[in-house]
Amino acid sequence: MPLDVMSLGFDITREREAALLAPFAMHSADSAGRKHLERSQSYRGPYQRDRDRILHSAAFRRLSHKTQVFTGEMGDYHRTRLTHTLEVASIARTLARALRLNEDLVEALALAHDIGHPPFGHSGEDVLDECLSNGGGFDHNRQALRIVELLENRYPEFPGLNLSAEVLEGQSHRAGKEDKNQIGSPLLEVQIVDAADSIAYDSHDVDDALELGLLQLAQLLEVPLWREAAARVQTRFTDLDDHQLRRAIVHELINWQVSDLLSIVAKEIEDRNIGSVADVRQAPILAKPSPEVAEHKLRLERFLYDRVYHHPALRAQRDLAAQKLRDMFQVLTSDSSRLPAKFQARVAQDGVPRAVADYLAGMTDRFAVEEHRRLTSA
Ligand code: MG
Repeated sequence: MPLDVMSLGFDITREREAALLAPFAMHSADSAGRKHLERSQSYRGPYQRDRDRILHSAAFRRLSHKTQVFTGEMGDYHRTRLTHTLEVASIARTLARALRLNEDLVEALALAHDIGHPPFGHSGEDVLDECLSNGGGFDHNRQALRIVELLENRYPEFPGLNLSAEVLEGQSHRAGKEDKNQIGSPLLEVQIVDAADSIAYDSHDVDDALELGLLQLAQLLEVPLWREAAARVQTRFTDLDDHQLRRAIVHELINWQVSDLLSIVAKEIEDRNIGSVADVRQAPILAKPSPEVAEHKLRLERFLYDRVYHHPALRAQRDLAAQKLRDMFQVLTSDSSRLPAKFQARVAQDGVPRAVADYLAGMTDRFAVEEHRRLTSA
């Protein structure tokens, strides 16, 4: 047995977690482990290791050139899939620390949560789903599981990233793949990453749309969440210009949603006497906004849906992008020898359409445009 030179003589993660985490947090010492057995490290806990594996994956790096809502051609200010992911991780860690949950697990879950998105945002997902309509369809949450369990190829000992069972369970929950009757509610760590995702996009999609001129500040005054956040800011500052005001309102939106969520979770934990992970599993979802904020968020999301996500400027780009993916799917399914070797090797097990979809889904927006040109030129 090789000497573990990094051994500290004690398990630092176990000791930290025992001292700092709440009894209803997921302690890594109680993890159900990994599919492929690995030697543990005394200097780095299992969820830290998961986070690092996700961070070092090729799929994670490609998020920097994938559309969140607005494409790269529209400018450099707005969020990409990567910066959205980092904002979710930041909000989720804040929530986790305040609730004494497992921050390492939360960070791993947050960094992985959008890793399965194809290029060109939701329109890319819709096209792939349509292309695979006879073979199981396409969903970015399920694709994230394929990536971390199968498609990432970094370690000689096993396919995928061999992540801990709790990270996979969290992603399975997002994909709607787990049996709720068997497991019950997801871990609180999983619940707060979902909440952080919603807090992040409900705040930054407005900010990005304003920057891009798709919305004007005055239009947002018909949205109660924005109007009230603006009123709160204006009680503290009276002479802000439009730029300063907008940023202050976006901060207020995040702070408001975070503090609302924390007070709801804290109250639920107390009222329901939640004292263990088993209690969390048996309870309904605890990490949710108050009824007032939930209603406000719904109104904002409807507004964004009508005025931003279906804005003619976005639709035009989306249609172009969608056609590129459709063309490539067509070319590659009719001649799978044009697939890279790694994806050709998957054909025997998964069939041509799925192997093609895996290849297309992994592309960045930029690479997809280049590859479309190459595949469709004579
Ligand atoms: Mg997200």
